[in-house]
Amino acid sequence: MQAVQFAAHGDRDVIEYGEFPDPEPDRGEVRLDVKAGALNHLDVFTREGMPILDLDFPHIPGSDAAGVVESVGADVARFEPGDRVAVTAGISCGECEFCRHGEHSLCVNYHLLGEHVRGVHSELAAVPAENLVPVPEGVSWETAAAAPLVFQTAWRMLLTRGELSSDESVLVLGASGGVGHAAVQIADHVGAEVYATASTDEKLDYARECGADHAIDYESEEFATEIRELTDRRGVDMVVDHVGAATWRDSLKSLAKGGRVVTCGATTGGRPETDLNRIFWNQLSVIGSTMASLGEVDDVLEKVWDGTFEPRIRETLPMSEAARAHEMLEEREGFGKVVVVPDGEL
Ligand SMILES: [Zn+2]
Repeated sequence: MQAVQFAAHGDRDVIEYGEFPDPEPDRGEVRLDVKAGALNHLDVFTREGMPILDLDFPHIPGSDAAGVVESVGADVARFEPGDRVAVTAGISCGECEFCRHGEHSLCVNYHLLGEHVRGVHSELAAVPAENLVPVPEGVSWETAAAAPLVFQTAWRMLLTRGELSSDESVLVLGASGGVGHAAVQIADHVGAEVYATASTDEKLDYARECGADHAIDYESEEFATEIRELTDRRGVDMVVDHVGAATWRDSLKSLAKGGRVVTCGATTGGRPETDLNRIFWNQLSVIGSTMASLGEVDDVLEKVWDGTFEPRIRETLPMSEAARAHEMLEEREGFGKVVVVPDGEL
């Protein structure tokens, strides 16, 4: 098969698209004929290398994909060849105390397809059946591939971990990114007052289209100051921050007394200067969130399949142009998700 792959960590020029042995489905796995994959910032970080990673090179990146079940390994009862499915990347052991409570993303052995083990940006992929969600006819491959990682992340952040309610206000940072645009849609669906930041007029307009009541240009004004003005100095009940070091102080400054900041990532760095005085005096909560449980994945994807939520497709590229796809994420070009499809499928 053909696969996006790299034999060492590094810049975008380590990415190749070429021959790779066909994967065989193990017990409990299916082999997927991949129709589309989508990128996440995680793909860039994995390619660059992180201290926790010890990859088996060549590594195939990619945590999001959708396609057709081509064959099934032993002990797979949920799927048969021909089924349309989307991949959810989180792999949990099913046996630890957290898995037994249905908290799969707290699993003590939690790891992600594409990050810790080979991913799905390839013509074929062997994936645990547990990691597949049925995709109805009528849902495009691009949509099915683009939704799982960011929508489950935003869903758990806002609802399970953040417990956002309809009489509250929420600020979503970086509304033009994958998690950001999912978070705006979910917050709007809940009925909360939604504030969003983005950097260009086009991105601000799209944040409003996604459901933001107020869109703030973070390039031209300090968003914490703007939030104070827009809320009569009160601040918001919740901030959704996946940006990290660059925004952390302003995220805390944007919160109302008793407010909470939910973090699921730190694309600009994970060790920000923080302000403990502000945290204790204003009685703020700092809440972490990662991916979602399998049940949460089912719940949120149901709402993507029925059109309640819609992943915006920024661009669709052949997998042979995966390096260009990585560049679009690194340069923060455009809005929403970058999709890659096997060259033969274009
Ligand atoms: Zn577990």
